[in-house]
Amino acid sequence: MSRLGRINEGNGCQVPNPYSVRSIAGVHFSQPATLNCGMVAPVHDWMENTVQPAAGNAFGERVVSVDIAASYSCRPRNNKRGAKMSEHGYGNALDISAFTLESGKKVTVLGDWGGGKDGRFLREIRGEACGQFATVLGPGSDRHHRDHFHLDLQQRRSGKAYCR
Ligand SMILES: [Zn+2]
Repeated sequence: MSRLGRINEGNGCQVPNPYSVRSIAGVHFSQPATLNCGMVAPVHDWMENTVQPAAGNAFGERVVSVDIAASYSCRPRNNKRGAKMSEHGYGNALDISAFTLESGKKVTVLGDWGGGKDGRFLREIRGEACGQFATVLGPGSDRHHRDHFHLDLQQRRSGKAYCR
């Protein structure tokens, strides 16, 4: 994990304290993720206290890497022009599309959401992410999230998490 210079693209996209994260809690990232410093601790805690115990229960092994679909990205929500800025534009969001275990087995959000042991693992870690993160989206949320989990720390006046 290394500290990056402040990001400010002058169009609303900005990350005051960005880090480039290559792994977290011993879990390797498929590509370095640029995250606001506030995201680092919740992602670490979710990996360590939710994802690893769930993988241990479901498969008897640890998750060694995750496929990162997106992190910091200067774009409106769902890439829709005119839409509100995505939390990705603040480095405040992480998209994960797959989890790889020690044995090499890969559990993908797109392919394994359906059911069985893999699906139960995915449902459990998604469910537990709600509250640890302010927003949790995935298959069933809308057509943009069928192949990944979106986790972010959007601040809402209600203080309530949005998980669907
Ligand atoms: Zn996302």
